[in-house]
Amino acid sequence: MSFNYQDIRKDFPILDQTVNNRPWVYFDNAATAQRPLPVLEKISEFSVKTNANIHRGTHTHAIKTTEAYEVARDIVKDFLHAGEREEIIFTHGTTESINLVARSFCEKFVSEGDEIIVTEMEHHANIVPWQMACERHHAILKILPFADNGELKTELLESLISVHTRIIALTHVSNTLGTVNPVKELIRIAHLHNVPVLIDGAQSVPHISIDVQDLDCDFFAFSGHKIYGPTGIGVLYGKRKWLESMPPFLGGGEMIDRVTFEKTTYAEIPLKFEAGTPHYVGAIAMGTAIQYLQNIGLPTIAEYEHQLLKYATGKLKALGNVRIFGESDSKSAVICFELDQIHPFDLGTLLDQLGIAVRTGRLCADPVMDHYNVSAMTRASFSFYNTMEEVDRFIEALTRIRSMF
Ligand code: PLP
Repeated sequence: MSFNYQDIRKDFPILDQTVNNRPWVYFDNAATAQRPLPVLEKISEFSVKTNANIHRGTHTHAIKTTEAYEVARDIVKDFLHAGEREEIIFTHGTTESINLVARSFCEKFVSEGDEIIVTEMEHHANIVPWQMACERHHAILKILPFADNGELKTELLESLISVHTRIIALTHVSNTLGTVNPVKELIRIAHLHNVPVLIDGAQSVPHISIDVQDLDCDFFAFSGHKIYGPTGIGVLYGKRKWLESMPPFLGGGEMIDRVTFEKTTYAEIPLKFEAGTPHYVGAIAMGTAIQYLQNIGLPTIAEYEHQLLKYATGKLKALGNVRIFGESDSKSAVICFELDQIHPFDLGTLLDQLGIAVRTGRLCADPVMDHYNVSAMTRASFSFYNTMEEVDRFIEALTRIRSMF
């Protein structure tokens, strides 16, 4: 590990507290990541000193804020290795990004009898918008299943694609199984049939360097709060050719060219898809979060988190009578598990009593719960600011909880 752990930890003062009289262990990073001081300082700086709406004023602070917002767009463009800054749309998060495509793309390109493909391991955010689109356009949703080890049955994709397939939407990294899907290969197959692909990158951007041009994806969505930035801000990358041909998603200020009561013409991308006042402080601070990650280096982060994953998986298995959901060799730092059939809500509550925060429930992935025929799961998800000692405390806590049952 080539980063100074003590320095990193100092950047996250929220981690330095006790919960239920114990040093807090935060293992719910897949739900939302904590924000480092530079991000908090940026939010404060733009809230306390410089607040002014963007793209409309000619006064000093309006110009300064507009410039910072557009710099954030450049930061995101470079982060995703997008070809053009106009291909970066700021949204409120992954959910809105996917809804934007499901609404606008489908309005233009999907009609009765057409087909949309998603996978069985999607977060609800990458299922429901497509279901809604299918209802609106009388289209059919098809599902690419996964095997019990948590890997997609990629060999079935080709047989699911037909002349009616209009788009494929799939997650890069599963929020439950942790599987890192071979998206580049799946995109290649889809493109052989001229089918565009949307990648849900909510769980991949914090861990994997993304190059949308190398992946050749048509759309890529992610949220600021999962990459150590603020909530309420996210990104949709889209290839220019699609964004230009899609109708606007929301109507209002800033997305127009000229409004008359007879006819309104729309702004060019990206503003065509950024109606109303955006969360500009969020966008600016997300830019800072991205720079923070880039300073550490995503390969460094990935390597360290992989060590945490291996260590925690080994220790969990050594407990015995543990079922781990998702055991792909290509896995990010997420472990969903069941211990002695203790209900996840009991497990989560008792872990919290011992100062350890994990996620419990259906994890916004009902089809994954149905696949394994369980009502809920317990999920521990790790970040580069977590430690092996914290994993040890987690394992000790599980041992203690087990002895209570
Ligand atoms: N997709 C995946 C894979 C997720 O894990 C999540 C959130 O957990 C989302 C989409 C939705 O993200 P948001 O709630 O930030 O819009």
